[in-house]
Amino acid sequence: MASLVVPQKCPFTLPSLHTLHHLPIIKSSLQTRLRWRPICLSMANAQTEFRKEDIVIVGAGIAGLATAVALQRLGIGSVVVEQSDSLRTGGTSLTFFKNGWKVFDAIGVGTELRTQFLEIQGIVIKSEDGRELRSFKFKDEDSSQEVRAVERGILLETLANKLPKNAISFSSKLKSIERIENDETMLTLEDDSQISAKIVIACDGIRSPVAKWMGFPEPRYVGHCAFRGIGFYPDGQPFEPKVTYLYGRGVRAAYVPISPTKVYWFVCFNSPSPGPKITDPSILRRETEDLVKNWSSELLNVIKSTPDDTIIRTPLVDRWLWPGISPPVSSGKVVLVGDAWHPMTPNLGQGACCALEDSIVLAKHLAQAIKFGTMSVEEAFMSYGSERWPRIFPLTVRANLVGALLQLDNSVVCSLRNNVLVPKLVRLGSMLEHTNFDFEPLQL
Ligand SMILES: Cc1cc2nc3c(=O)[nH]c(=O)nc-3n(C[C@H](O)[C@H](O)[C@H](O)COP(=O)(O)OP(=O)(O)OC[C@H]3O[C@@H](n4cnc5c(N)ncnc54)[C@H](O)[C@@H]3O)c2cc1C
Repeated sequence: MASLVVPQKCPFTLPSLHTLHHLPIIKSSLQTRLRWRPICLSMANAQTEFRKEDIVIVGAGIAGLATAVALQRLGIGSVVVEQSDSLRTGGTSLTFFKNGWKVFDAIGVGTELRTQFLEIQGIVIKSEDGRELRSFKFKDEDSSQEVRAVERGILLETLANKLPKNAISFSSKLKSIERIENDETMLTLEDDSQISAKIVIACDGIRSPVAKWMGFPEPRYVGHCAFRGIGFYPDGQPFEPKVTYLYGRGVRAAYVPISPTKVYWFVCFNSPSPGPKITDPSILRRETEDLVKNWSSELLNVIKSTPDDTIIRTPLVDRWLWPGISPPVSSGKVVLVGDAWHPMTPNLGQGACCALEDSIVLAKHLAQAIKFGTMSVEEAFMSYGSERWPRIFPLTVRANLVGALLQLDNSVVCSLRNNVLVPKLVRLGSMLEHTNFDFEPLQL
């Protein structure tokens, strides 16, 4: 994997550490521990940009931005490179449980988000014709539980606003990565500009090129896809603050109010293959409505109230981090966070929650290395991986199994589920135990 790359623009600025100028102690400790050695530069292509950075985060999604904010709270600066030309505004909404909210509070965005998104009080489970099978209140099971659906676009904006201006380089798609001399990493972007980084934190999502470079296989399609959207009610949405699940045969759906005017929904269905990428909104709407056309009118109304541009279709994938088989979370000073490391199916609503947890744990370990020198960066990444793996692996497996169970289309099994399992046996408390997650406060 290692190779020598000769950067193409000269001169370049010496170790920037610009993001740390306000913290002289950390800056000097970083300079000591991560000393640059200038590389011979060529004038061959003066157009091609080359720069050096201390910490580069690849991907301005939830993991990337939360990691940048968590590091910043510990006085550690970073730059984020993002392939898109702006923050992703689509992508509907995500449900965050108390583990996610603890991280939002720790990185200073919890209060701001709470003012915009409704607290969801419970769950109602129905059969496809709208018959109620069971209902739970979150706080009856766990008084500390907190559940809200949050629009991805607003979440990303809120996180990005906590970072210094220009901390995110948009239109910066990572093309290739290679290790160069001095344990540094050369990131080459699509426009052929290059960044030599001392530390790379890859938050580049399920198709992460960095994870591929580290030897991880592609995530595996699990046999079902989801349509998602946000119903818009300019005069106010009519629903109680509860998640309503509807269980059919091989198809399930849910809707949940997000705010006074918006309601998030999904329809999950079995499909032998991920199918072609569909972007035509009229096809997406028609296919969704066909799946649930005889279902409860409430669900159909939410789908009908959805503006075309918010409907998306996503094949669901995951990757199990088998002990001894899966590559480690880091390679030298390059580490994976969020979906780039552990894509999981959304059946427990934990992918983004876990990406947030990762960001806090990683920031804490990296700060130990950079600020106190109690361990090397490589050791910090390994201890982050050891701390996170026992949490991530079982959750990924459990999310997959829950999805497989809920997507069963056998009529006898579905009847047992709707008439015995859900009404009599299921306990919400044990279903949400995985949202218990504690961590030490982020402190300088
Ligand atoms: C249907 C569905 C429903 C879900 N619901 C929930 C839920 O309710 N609750 C929950 O907690 N989780 C949920 N998830 C999971 C959640 O969406 C993910 O876990 C979360 O988005 C992961 O964030 P991330 O930052 O790791 O990756 P992403 O959000 O994918 O961000 C990756 C970023 O990296 C950028 N990038 C990629 N490649 C490059 C490159 N080469 N160069 C530069 N930038 C690059 C991308 O543009 C993107 O901005 C759901 C997922 C799905 C599919």
